[in-house]
Amino acid sequence: MTIAAIILAGGQGTRAGPVPKQYQPIGGVPLLRRTVAAFLAEPRVEQVAVVCPRVDAARVAAILAGLDRDSRLMAPVTGGATRQASGLAGLEALAASVLPPETVLIHDAARPFVTRALLDRIIGGLDRHPAVIPGLAVADTLKIVDAIGRITGTQPRDKLWRAQTPQAFRFAEILVAHRKAATAGRHDFTDDAALAEWAGLPVGIVEGSEANRKLTTAEDLAMADDMLSREGEVRIGQGFDVHAFKPGDHVWLCGVRIPHACALEGHSDADVGLHALTDALLGAIGDGDIGQHFPPSDERWRGAASDQFLADAARRVRERGGVVVNVDVTLLAEAPRIAPHREAMRARVGQILGIGADRVSVKATTTEKLGFVGRKEGLAALAIATVRLP
Ligand code: MG
Repeated sequence: MTIAAIILAGGQGTRAGPVPKQYQPIGGVPLLRRTVAAFLAEPRVEQVAVVCPRVDAARVAAILAGLDRDSRLMAPVTGGATRQASGLAGLEALAASVLPPETVLIHDAARPFVTRALLDRIIGGLDRHPAVIPGLAVADTLKIVDAIGRITGTQPRDKLWRAQTPQAFRFAEILVAHRKAATAGRHDFTDDAALAEWAGLPVGIVEGSEANRKLTTAEDLAMADDMLSREGEVRIGQGFDVHAFKPGDHVWLCGVRIPHACALEGHSDADVGLHALTDALLGAIGDGDIGQHFPPSDERWRGAASDQFLADAARRVRERGGVVVNVDVTLLAEAPRIAPHREAMRARVGQILGIGADRVSVKATTTEKLGFVGRKEGLAALAIATVRLP
């Protein structure tokens, strides 16, 4: 049985703030990226199609950067005006692919906590039913309430279940059902199981998961963020770098060009701040050092801007599912003065790392005219980085 997944990220829901919820970060990682990663972590899933509005294509590509090295992840598919239309767009994209799947899982991007166990139950349920959705029996008593807030009755709940996703279907059957609904002018189905029921396809239910809830409101996102930020392992790394002065008229420090009476000697742009930060990040994840990844013997890095070294270290952190919590750099210099450039440096480092400037600290000190820094022979930088790994 070949399996593909369609992840519907078309919602423009703004209940969770001005940015649609699926693009907001929880635990430092955009919700959509978590959801897609959960499906890519399942080896039985052979294709993953993310459906989003055309205007969001660039944003989605940026959110999924790196994951797209997995050949199972298709280029984002342009969705339609409704959830149902986006579902059909995803199905048509799979139908047009070289090898359409036998089974498709259709999932809401706003449910990032899909587990292996849940996928096992859903895929296993396909042995007994042609289509399967996860659901939870309603536990609360259900009241019927009138327009002025008075209870007019109690709804028996013993046959009521709350539907979740991913919902699994035989690909050919759900594709035909979707096409039929669109042709019939039906655009109002709120999940694919409802559409399947309308088309006369039998749908079975397996036990869902409370953790697999749909994150809809700002409160949902805040709770998920809080939960995730307690998880994982905190790692710390340190870095240190020195460069000597040479004749010139500016230096690069923490990604900012500063006019100065001399320049710094080095194979690259000799930005001691970014070099120390790069080593601190690499240290936190135990992934060698800057000289190993960007050897000075390599002509490619002659005169190179050092932001790419730091960006590469940040990418290595992300590839491990990690997030940079904060970085702190201390520049050792008699001159130039750092204070006037401090905020620009914090902003630039934050930009390179993809974190807020409030998580970046830049400090400076002289060495009281002692040593090589004191004799103005060069500059040094110390850095520390904190990283949270899953
Ligand atoms: Mg260096």
